[in-house]
Amino acid sequence: MKPIEQMQTPDPRNVEHWRADFPILGERVHGRPLVYLDNGATTQKPAAVIYAENAYYRHSNANVHRGVHLLSQRATDSFEAARAKIARFINAQRPEEIVFVRGTTEAINLVAQSYARPQIKPGDEILISAMEHHSNIVPWQLVCEQTGAALKVVPIDDTGALDADAYERLFSERTRLVAMTHLANALGSINPVERIVAGAHARGVPVLLDGAQAIAHLPVDVRAIDCDFYAFSGHKVYGPTGIGVLYARAALLEAMPPWQGGGDMIRSVTFEKTEYNEIPWKFEAGTPNIAGAIALGAALDYVDSIGMEVIAAHENELLAYATDALRVIPGLRFIGTARDKASILSFVLDGVHAHDVGTILDHHGIAVRAGHHCAMPVMQRFGVPATVRASLALYNTHQDIDALIEGLGKVREIFGT
Ligand code: PMP
Repeated sequence: MKPIEQMQTPDPRNVEHWRADFPILGERVHGRPLVYLDNGATTQKPAAVIYAENAYYRHSNANVHRGVHLLSQRATDSFEAARAKIARFINAQRPEEIVFVRGTTEAINLVAQSYARPQIKPGDEILISAMEHHSNIVPWQLVCEQTGAALKVVPIDDTGALDADAYERLFSERTRLVAMTHLANALGSINPVERIVAGAHARGVPVLLDGAQAIAHLPVDVRAIDCDFYAFSGHKVYGPTGIGVLYARAALLEAMPPWQGGGDMIRSVTFEKTEYNEIPWKFEAGTPNIAGAIALGAALDYVDSIGMEVIAAHENELLAYATDALRVIPGLRFIGTARDKASILSFVLDGVHAHDVGTILDHHGIAVRAGHHCAMPVMQRFGVPATVRASLALYNTHQDIDALIEGLGKVREIFGT
């Protein structure tokens, strides 16, 4: 294995250098070179991330926060250093505003149960949009069932962009929270998050942003956006599964009750009374995913070493290339054509079910996603049962897109369309 310093300094000018950092890209699938276009579901991991996880277990493994011995101190230092790194990556004011969770889903559920549920009353309203992933719908439906609140849904237009006028209109005296995606996973639409936040704050309403997709494709500055909560998953940004982040303003975290009880989230416990730990540990009951947090830190270092602007420019160029190439395929219809769009090509092919497209592409070594993408309401909005979704990452190339086009040609041959 290469020394870590070499792995973390890819040449910012050349996608071939980046590809060499991802060992899995050398795999063959059904005897063909892997073309990985399922990055919206999860991204592949650079060697620096695999190394960081491995090095932790080889050299530092111990439980955090409780130990007086050297390994525990090492583990704690690396774990807390990862938190500080994440805070810098999204420009949070303080590392204490970063809560480690399992992923976006857990982060949203934490906000739903610990922030929203205790204060929401019957008749209050929570505002989401029609382009949300199930994990930014169902936690709010649960809160609504538990409290008697109502869910309001901002519609999207035929391109998959948010209806900004409807957004303004749907506020009422009873609106208590806005929860929206930054980048829609089934459509690729980028939401105007600064405007969304400004509109909500003008009415004194806090905003949660689902950053599961955005975190790997757009520079994220939570202070510039001015959001109150921001959720994302490590595995979507070249880090491991099972680790994610809830960013929340310190004052909100201070005011929220703990979500889960257990070890590490307490200062003192008696049978009569328990005092809770300070933020963020108040929200981190039990042994956390220490290796995952450290490896997520390594993933963000890796992204920083290339630069999010460089990555975004590369992906945007590729998205334009792919859009032009797919557009001319007879019978192909894009689902999601918003002007502000990133990394996602979602489409249907006349006369062929998305799952058949995905299966045939797989036989040609091409990994795409076929289905509802955990966004069934989006499928209903566009009147399709499922779409094929090719989603990009920093290591994708024109050759990957050419392979996809060729693969779709094979699909059309087989189905005679
Ligand atoms: N929101 C969006 C927009 C997503 O794309 C995803 C993952 N597909 C999630 C939330 C959920 O993320 P996770 O499964 O990592 O919790």
